[in-house]
Amino acid sequence: MTATGVLHGKTAVVTGAGQGIGRASAERFSREGARVLAVDINAAALASLEAACGCEPFAFDLTDGTAIGTFARAAGAVDIAFLCAGTVPYGTVLDCSDADWEHAFDLNVTAMFRMIRALLPAMIAQGGGAIITMSSVASSVRGVPDRFAYAATKAAIIGMTKALAADHAAQGIRANAICPGTIETPALEARMQAIGNYAATRAAFAARQPLGRFGQADEIASLALYLASDASRFTTGQCHIIDGGWSN
Ligand code: NAD
Repeated sequence: MTATGVLHGKTAVVTGAGQGIGRASAERFSREGARVLAVDINAAALASLEAACGCEPFAFDLTDGTAIGTFARAAGAVDIAFLCAGTVPYGTVLDCSDADWEHAFDLNVTAMFRMIRALLPAMIAQGGGAIITMSSVASSVRGVPDRFAYAATKAAIIGMTKALAADHAAQGIRANAICPGTIETPALEARMQAIGNYAATRAAFAARQPLGRFGQADEIASLALYLASDASRFTTGQCHIIDGGWSN
């Protein structure tokens, strides 16, 4: 935490802060002066984040609605909520079991809805705040093969974000969604390993972006920082696509 950054004096919640995009964003928010409340199911990852930048760890499963209520009461009034945690189920409609579908919606959509509902009253009471949701290019932005359930959840997040922005703009609440393309994170790495034929898979995933490479977690953190800060005070209800030109 620094006394000079653009988030100095702000308190931010970041979910999925243990690794990948969430971790890069928690570290960036902290470097920019925010007090960061870092949420993840992985306590060990949160401990290393705390050691690295002083983010305060809250280890719990976001699919547990009771735990979300307990967390929100402990958090009190926050200025920023970056709801980044998510799961990436693969496959077509024919591969998707009821359990796959339910888990995808439980974590990607229902947990986000519950977190917003729990944090919003105190945010409104203090005069406003910035909510940033994590969607994807694989959503209502574009169709991507083998992301049936995933795309449904990420499109739901866009709808939720726009409704939130419309309902609460007059109370000083801004809500924006981030829609990344293919970003190099531990989850993506595991996915490419699991698909097999690693070198060819990696090359094919990178080639989807006209800019010819993966995005980096730090590049998404830069967009999250913009949306969290007063620099973006005139934007709300938007999908901010950051995909190396994939959806162009
Ligand atoms: P990641 O898997 O590397 O990190 C996700 C984090 O969420 C992990 O630290 C994990 O422990 C945590 N988590 C998982 N389940 C949880 C639960 N039930 N409760 C609490 N925490 C939980 O993921 P990432 O690649 O950094 O992606 C982060 C977000 O960005 C996701 O919502 C993902 O859909 C989205 N996204 C990623 C990409 C990409 O290419 N990496 C592209 C578009 C969108």
